[in-house]
Parts: sequence; C-alpha cells; structure tokens
Amino acid sequence: MQTPFNCAVCGQLVAPRLAHPACSKTCGSEQCKATYYRQCIRVFDQHRQQQRIKEFQQRGFDMVTCAVCNRQFEMIGYKHLKTHGLTVQEYAELYPDLPRLNSRMKQQRGRE
Ligand SMILES: [Zn+2]
Ligand SMILES: [Zn+2]
Repeated sequence: MQTPFNCAVCGQLVAPRLAHPACSKTCGSEQCKATYYRQCIRVFDQHRQQQRIKEFQQRGFDMVTCAVCNRQFEMIGYKHLKTHGLTVQEYAELYPDLPRLNSRMKQQRGRE
C-alpha cells in the first residue's frame, strides 16, 4: 500500500492510484511530467559535464568559466547562454573581458 505523496513539480498532494505508473514522482499532469523530465535531464547533463571537465583538466586543457552560473566549459556557446536567457552578443556585451573559448577551441576555430 502506497501513501500519498507530493508532486515533485507543483507540490500538490497526489493519491498513488492517480499517479501515472511510469511517472511516480509527479501528479501526472502533462506540464508537471514535462518539467520533471527536464529536471532529470539537467541533473544528468551536469554530471556528464563534470566528468568532461575532469577529463579535460587531467589532459591539461584550460577551461572558461561562465560568469552567470560559474560553471566551467570548453566553450560558452549560444546553447548554454540560452539557458540564462542571453544571446552570445548580450553575454559579450555584459562581460567583454571574459573569454568564451578555451585555447583548444580557439585553435580549432583558427584551423577552420
Ligand atoms: Zn504536479
Ligand atoms: Zn552559465
């Protein structure tokens, strides 16, 4: 017998029999399910990103730090800045002195 739980997204108390069998953490509404899955994906991405950073540092590559979230990247690109609601151009205007590419990415770009 399961006990009622709170939806991980909206916080609403959910009776277990109403919960979606494949999604036992939310109330089962489309919006909550979508938000919840996005959160899961984000946690997974962050973990993978951390592994990558470790790997790069072990190989002696430098990293650039995002001024908004303080996370490290090889490149602070359009896709990442979008998560902060910024464009590359806006970021460059806000932080004109900060690099957006590490030396390896710069080299790669130079070769293209
Ligand atoms: Zn919900
Ligand atoms: Zn960031």
